[in-house]
This record gives sequence, C-alpha cells and structure tokens, in this order.
Amino acid sequence: VPVSIAIDGPAGAGKSTVAKLVAKRLNLMYVDTGAMYRAVAYLCVKDGVDGRVERAVRELLDTHKITFEQGADNGLRVFVDGVEVTARLRDPEVSALVSTVATHPAVRSQLTDWQRDFAARHSVVMDGRDIGTVVLPNATVKVFLTAAPEERARRRQQEYHQMGYEVAFDDIVRSVIERDKKDSERALAPLREAEDAVRIDSTDKPIEYVVDEIVQLVEN
Ligand code: C5P
Repeated sequence: VPVSIAIDGPAGAGKSTVAKLVAKRLNLMYVDTGAMYRAVAYLCVKDGVDGRVERAVRELLDTHKITFEQGADNGLRVFVDGVEVTARLRDPEVSALVSTVATHPAVRSQLTDWQRDFAARHSVVMDGRDIGTVVLPNATVKVFLTAAPEERARRRQQEYHQMGYEVAFDDIVRSVIERDKKDSERALAPLREAEDAVRIDSTDKPIEYVVDEIVQLVEN
C-alpha cells in the first residue's frame, strides 16, 4: 500500500517548501494540490470566464485538458491543452481568483478524484487545505502546518520578489488573510485541521527542523 503524507494549512505557512524537502528525503512524489486549483483559476483568466459562475467553470474543465508532470525540482508542472502554464499559476490575478473557483463542488470533485487516483498509484507527500480531512482521510501521517500571519505574508512577499513582482506588505497581509477566510468559511471541504493531525507552527523554526519533525513522524 502506498504511503501518504498529508500537509494542510493556511497560505504561506511553508507547506510546499517543507513538502518538497520531505518528499526528497523519503523518496516520495510531491503533489501540490494548490497548483491544480490555480490551473483552473488560470483558465478562467485566460479565457475571460467569470470564475464565480460554477457552470461556466465546469464547462472550461470539460473542454480543456489539464495535465500534470513531475518537474526536475520536484515541483508540479502544469499543462493546459499541452502548453505549460506553470509560470503563470502565481500571477496576482490567478491568486485573487483561486479561492473563488475552489468553492465550486464540480471543481472540487474533479480535482479530488485526480488527487486520490494519484495517491492510489504512488507514495506521496500531498499539500493543500483538505488533504487530511477529505482527500486522504486514511493518510499515513497528517500534519497541520501554521505560522503567524505576518510571517506568512513575509514569505509570500519574498516569493513575489523572486518572481519579479514588488507588492506592498500590507496588501499581501490583507490578501493572505482574505484567502484564508474564504478557504475556512466555504461549505465544501473547508480549510480545517484533521482531528488526528500533528500541528506544527513554523513561525520561528528553520525549515530543516520542520522537515526533520515530519520525517520522524513517518519513521515512527
Ligand atoms: O496552496 P496554494 O496557496 O497554492 O493554494 C491556492 C488555493 O487553492 C487556496 O487558497 C485554496 O483556495 C485552493 N485549494 C483548495 N484545496 C486544496 C488546495 C488548494 O481549496 N487542497
């Protein structure tokens, strides 16, 4: 039976950085489920579709082929109709829309199916919002990774900086908090800590400590 490590938590807690390193240490595949939701939001932006309208978003999913590939750095590469769109997934317009498209049942059921199917065939580290609660309720290990809001905003600002965007700190704090609120308050598969998750606060911890902690959970 494949091993699965679920890492959930709010935006900017360090999930993807930690998940990638855990995957590398344990030789597992890393699956970034946020990138899948971002791909759907990207499609809306590209085609000028109103992401609030579930029927319209569903039609996009039916008419375009979204595929994934493991990248060299262990990140998820995303393709729409065969064209790589990975570099677009963190565009501010995509980030602003993603939590809205993620509320639609039609979107969640399709993406959840892809995620479960993948975890059935491979040992994985999967990060997201609902992995331990909904996607993989029987995951081998569940982690809920958090960090103080200012720290999460600081990390996001760093990420934007690396992509060549300069975004004001206060705007980032606001958008991170707004996204968490939307993700926590939606009816379907809200951001929530699983009952059997181990909570890790990464605020003042070096990444390597957090990675060690998770590796030890898996090995025990
Ligand atoms: O992890 P990331 O910040 O890339 O996720 C982008 C958005 O995708 C989240 O804010 C959330 O709205 C949605 N998402 C989700 N369920 C997941 C992963 C991401 O709803 N498992």
